[in-house]
Amino acid sequence: MKIISSPLELKDYLKNNIKTIGFVPTMGALHKGHISLIEKAKAQNELVVVSIFLNPTQFLKGEDLDTYPKKDEADKKICELSGVDVLFFPHAKDMYGDDEVSLLAPKVRGFVLEGTSRPGHFNGVLTVVMKLLNIVNPTRAYFGKKDAQQLNLIELMVKQLFMSVEIIAVDTLRESDGLALSSRNAYLNEAQRKEALKISASLHLASKMVSQKIYDSPTITAKMRESLFPLEIAYVEILNREFEPIRHVEIGKSIILVEAKVGDTRLLDNIWL
Ligand code: AMP
Repeated sequence: MKIISSPLELKDYLKNNIKTIGFVPTMGALHKGHISLIEKAKAQNELVVVSIFLNPTQFLKGEDLDTYPKKDEADKKICELSGVDVLFFPHAKDMYGDDEVSLLAPKVRGFVLEGTSRPGHFNGVLTVVMKLLNIVNPTRAYFGKKDAQQLNLIELMVKQLFMSVEIIAVDTLRESDGLALSSRNAYLNEAQRKEALKISASLHLASKMVSQKIYDSPTITAKMRESLFPLEIAYVEILNREFEPIRHVEIGKSIILVEAKVGDTRLLDNIWL
């Protein structure tokens, strides 16, 4: 596995490449969810590039940029064992200069849901993803459905800016008890981890209601909110695949999303029905 930290060196390294490239951008502290993205990229491409970059511009003031879990050596091992060809490990100073050009998330879709509690977060996400895609120039890039709003905005960016990369959405990987894998789960103590299970359980409850032919969104979200008590809920929403609120669940066209706080940790989860 080749490890490269300079953006221009990586661009140069890939310049004459004629193979298909699968790209998996991450912020490190890799877990099995990230590995499932890498495996999918390996299955569909001749060369796999993973980036590990804790992008400062997507963190708001007071958020966990300085305490975000860091596992550089373990991450390198995981990438090597997963058959990654190139690991891109840039420093922030190589990715950003002063007085930069940057992207703005759409005024509505970028500032609802997670964008409500984190205004400007998706400006940082889109800017860094654009930079990374321009450096790697992949055939396909892999993103988790777990971050459904991020995935939706990246798909919009690619479409609206006429980019040629194919975005591949990957299912959420969960622990056996239902908890969606996340680097931020490392913040949870044992009691909080138990509390966090209420989030995936609320989604399970919603899918059970739908299987009992209860499709009314307010009825479903009210039950979900009850089941999440006493967690601090940021939102419980039922949207279509275009990310617009819907009054009734339609199978094959709906996403149910939750963000709730366990202790100081914000956790996201969703199911695609
Ligand atoms: P992050 O390092 O948190 O930025 O995540 C990097 C990529 O992994 C993103 O596309 C995430 O959506 C995806 N990801 C995170 N958690 C999971 C999971 N449990 N299952 C599948 N993909 C995930």
